[in-house]
Amino acid sequence: MGTVVDTANEEACGRVDSNKKAKVIFALGGPCSGKGTQCSKIATNFGYTHLSAGDILRAEKESGSENGTMIQSMMNEGKLVPSEIIVKLIQRAMQESGSDKFLIDGFPRNEENRVAFESVIGIEPEFRLLSRKQGREDDNVDTMKKRLEVYRQLSLPVIEYYNFRAMVRKIEGEKSIEEVSEAVDAIFSSLIDEVETTY
Ligand code: UDP
Ligand code: MG
Repeated sequence: MGTVVDTANEEACGRVDSNKKAKVIFALGGPCSGKGTQCSKIATNFGYTHLSAGDILRAEKESGSENGTMIQSMMNEGKLVPSEIIVKLIQRAMQESGSDKFLIDGFPRNEENRVAFESVIGIEPEFRLLSRKQGREDDNVDTMKKRLEVYRQLSLPVIEYYNFRAMVRKIEGEKSIEEVSEAVDAIFSSLIDEVETTY
């Protein structure tokens, strides 16, 4: 099961910078649930800028930034990088993209992430995955166990928070990529209808 949070309404829209309104959808779900794969498709089909929090952290680490070593060790432990760091990196990526429609993949991962993002940018959102083996350094049994634990304890409450506010769209992730993609397309097509009828 996976979830998508819908921010197609006015209140849920935030600002990337002082004079630009942005629409944000968070794609959340367990590790290896297929989020990245589906997010790439959504980005292509529906014109969203896909920002993967994990990819942003990996790029920051590769860039040799002063936080690189800390980011690497947190990721290897399946722990969460401090909110201040990831929120700043996401904000920078949003600003640099020049876009105003974002699909943020794998974030927020805990309540602190959510609150930090909302206070800096002023938004919400979320969804889920399939199987994946990319040979990443954190793709091993030990890290995966820790990541699943972090997901259950810290990330699920974030999904519950949005669910309570009726902002979550759930997607079954345990099917073929094509089948999941059809379900995702149906949801995103209905979002377009909602926006069209709202304005
Ligand atoms: N991570 C984090 N904060 C985020 C996103 C990712 O700290 O907002 C770290 C965390 O250690 C996580 C790792 O990056 O285990 C990999 O995350 P990614 O989203 O790439 O994993 P996926 O679920 O897509 O395989
Ligand atoms: Mg991912």
